Amino acid sequence: MSQTETVHDRIEQARTELTPTQIAVGLALAASLGFVLMFLQDPMVHDAMHTFRHGAGITCH
Ligand SMILES: [Zn+2]
Repeated sequence: MSQTETVHDRIEQARTELTPTQIAVGLALAASLGFVLMFLQDPMVHDAMHTFRHGAGITCH
């Protein structure tokens, strides 16, 4: 798959141009985004957060 290789090459190039701190920040942001998406896609966790919002006094409906 040439497209995969292209993306991989881009990542390799970005890695050489970024500082370790920038890489760490980028990975942290990506991990946070993945964590949020995981929460949004899990109905049970969504319900738990919904209950938490009401528990915190935040009305949503
Ligand atoms: Zn609600």
